[in-house]
Amino acid sequence: MEGSACPSCALGELVMKAGAGRRMRYRHIPDLEIPAEVELPTCPACEQRWLDGEAMRRLEAALEDAYRTELVRKAEQAIETLRQHIAQRELERLLGVSAGWLSKVKKGKETSAPMAALLMLLAEQPHRVESLRRLWAVRPEPPRLFELAPVRVRVQSEGSRPSLYAVEAVQVAPSAQSVPSLISSEELEGVAA
Ligand SMILES: [Zn+2]
Repeated sequence: MEGSACPSCALGELVMKAGAGRRMRYRHIPDLEIPAEVELPTCPACEQRWLDGEAMRRLEAALEDAYRTELVRKAEQAIETLRQHIAQRELERLLGVSAGWLSKVKKGKETSAPMAALLMLLAEQPHRVESLRRLWAVRPEPPRLFELAPVRVRVQSEGSRPSLYAVEAVQVAPSAQSVPSLISSEELEGVAA
């Protein structure tokens, strides 16, 4: 492959090229970075990469490693975020995993894509942990209001005009009775603007 003319632009001869910042879809990750050290036949003129069987095998192996690393990184990040909202043991109970499992993941233990997906979703909307608690019941109760409209704000007033909206605070200040105690994130953006 190396040394042959670029089939795309015909202006360059393919050379083996490594480098950071090359991204491509791999499995369900749309922008996985190809590890910088992986050399691929590349056209110096149009930057197009052309893979022969050998380059394909090396790329596959490198991407699989990068993918596994990314899964662990995403799970670790989500666990770290969730730590601020729920005790680790309690989260393990709600996920149905053994005690200490989350610590192992944080130390780099391999995790599955579905588990990483669940952790990411929970970390993005930590109030859904409460939904999980409810949904595990054989006959779940209907969702409570704050599960559906997650952003609860505390409003501190100066005079009659609210000056500060604290997102995800649980208390509503008594002085805030004239303003909504529960507003959607869209509304909050409107307020902040
Ligand atoms: Zn080219």
